[in-house]
This record gives sequence, structure tokens and C-alpha cells, in this order.
Amino acid sequence: MRVPLIAGNWKMNGSLALVEQFGQAFGEANLSSSMEIAILPPSPYLAAAQTAFEKTPLRLGAQTVNPEPSGAYTGEVSASMLSEFGVHYVLAGHSERRSLYHEDDKAVLVRVQAVLNEGLTPILCVGETLAERDEGRTEATVLSQVKTVFDMLNAQQRQHVVIAYEPVWAIGTGRTATPEQAQTVHAAIRAYLVEYDKQMASTLRLLYGGSMKRENAAELLAQPDIDGGLIGGASLKVDDFLAICQSVG
Ligand code: PEP
Repeated sequence: MRVPLIAGNWKMNGSLALVEQFGQAFGEANLSSSMEIAILPPSPYLAAAQTAFEKTPLRLGAQTVNPEPSGAYTGEVSASMLSEFGVHYVLAGHSERRSLYHEDDKAVLVRVQAVLNEGLTPILCVGETLAERDEGRTEATVLSQVKTVFDMLNAQQRQHVVIAYEPVWAIGTGRTATPEQAQTVHAAIRAYLVEYDKQMASTLRLLYGGSMKRENAAELLAQPDIDGGLIGGASLKVDDFLAICQSVG
């Protein structure tokens, strides 16, 4: 049984007022208790969100982490610091981190390891560019991104990872993968995970991300291998994000 997870990645957006608004709305909302919901605000808002979300089903997540435990890394935040603020999930390998901050597969791996070592849950983001899809290299690209990380984890660590399939061409573009396109890649990832461990493959959660919104969420989330969503733009409006959470079947 895979517990659905809806995670909202605010990126470099939001405000203290938005944190309060989410705390208020989700404190009053009537949501299924058999799902998990997380908000990943920019790190300066974590302390306020920890308080504002206390009496809500919202868990906290972070958008990135430095793999080192501490030291002279100006501007960076460690996994233990995130943990002190009640963070549960941490993104690794988001396509914006890969492209804008040049985080390669090795950089993604050490972040996943740092998050796991702290007892937190990494959300490993994978996805192909439009050129890779057009060249018929979608599965090869995505599975190689999974392999780089999973080969270096032990069996126990692998069970604690969440994978988000986010086609790069669908992130922030308004262009969503069709439910069939997304399901095909999710099924390929799950089939690949069987090579490590059949039990882990059947329980590991696979999220879809890429212009998921209230209008298309139900259809995407109804696919057999889609266990939730990683939401960017639509997580900034409380009504939209609530509607996505409510469309979990
Ligand atoms: C994301 O940033 O992970 C994302 C999926 O963004 P959007 O929903 O805006 O496409």
C-alpha cells in the first residue's frame, strides 16, 4: 500500500503571509487522513511554517541541501539544520538545480545520502529534456538518473527514497505530460526498481511533476503507478493546492 504524497515546491516564491494563509486553510480543511501533504517553502520561512502548520496535516520540506555537515560554505544549509526545523522531505536533483546550479548526478547522489543519513526523506527528481524525448531517449535518461543514485545506496536506504518523475519540458511551461505518457515512464521506473528489490519496487512512491494543476490532477493521479504529485506553480495558490489534494482518489 503506497500512501499518496502531494508536495508543493514554492521555489523562490511566497511570503510570511502565504505561510499563514496555508496554515489557516489547511487547519480547517477536510482532507483524507490516508495521504501525506507537504509544503517546501524557501528556507527562511521554515521556522514560521513549522509553527503555522503545527495543527494542520501539512508536513515541511526543503528545496535543497548542502551535503556537508557544517563548515565554511557561505549561503548553504545542512541536513541537520533542516531537521531542527521539522523538515521531513528534501528535494534532490530538481531540474532547476541541475541546470541553473550545475548539480550533476554525483552532486545529486551526495545530497540524497546526506538527507538519508539525517533520517529525512529525499525526493529524487528525474526527467528528460524535450530533445532527449524527441530522440527517443526518455527512458534511458530517466533510468540512468535513478541508477546513479540507487547503485550507491544500500537496500535499507533505497526504501526511504521518493522519486519524482518531472519531464523538464513540462516544468513551469503549462505543458503537462498526458496521463499515458507519465504512466509509461512511471511503469518503466518501477520495472527498473524490481532489479534491485521486488518489495522495494512495489512500495516506493513515484510522484509526477510538471504543470500539474487542479484541472488535470485527478486524471494523472488515477494512473496505477502515479502515487502523488510534485507541484510548482499551482502550489502557490491555496485553493488550487487544496483542490489538487482533494483530487487524490
Ligand atoms: C516543479 O518545479 O517541480 C514543478 C513541477 O513546477 P510546475 O508545477 O510549475 O511545472
